[in-house]
Amino acid sequence: MMIEVLCRLWDRIHSGKQPHSRGCRSCGHCCDLYGGYLHASDADLKRWRQLGRDDLLALVNEMGWIWIDPEKRRRGDPCPFLQRISPDEARCAIHAIKPDMCRDYPSLDHGRHCVRGIYIPRQTSPKDPTLH
Ligand code: SF4
Ligand code: SF4
Repeated sequence: MMIEVLCRLWDRIHSGKQPHSRGCRSCGHCCDLYGGYLHASDADLKRWRQLGRDDLLALVNEMGWIWIDPEKRRRGDPCPFLQRISPDEARCAIHAIKPDMCRDYPSLDHGRHCVRGIYIPRQTSPKDPTLH
């Protein structure tokens, strides 16, 4: 609840940002950089179990790290769900049910500025077509 209030306040403070410095471009650069170092939340695991997404659950290791190939068992591999359309455009193949870490990126800890320095308002709907 407190996080929600802070996010709304933060969005209001940044509402005057020029269009070029606000809003996700769906470039996928953050996914390229961090997609191999994600952690599933309890809510992610519950959601995927309810949806019967054993394919996703199979890529979670015993410590909760994702996406871990069961044979290689190492972190740092590219996210298998990033679909690159061009060097500057990408899609998430599991956008509607992607991990909370992806949904929350960039967090308040990052000042809601992504790796490109762009201000990203909090996503309000999983149907939002942008990556973040
Ligand atoms: S959050 Fe930033 S780096 Fe990530 S896809 Fe959007 S514009 Fe690109
Ligand atoms: S799950 Fe989706 S949003 Fe998360 S790193 Fe992979 S492609 Fe990006």
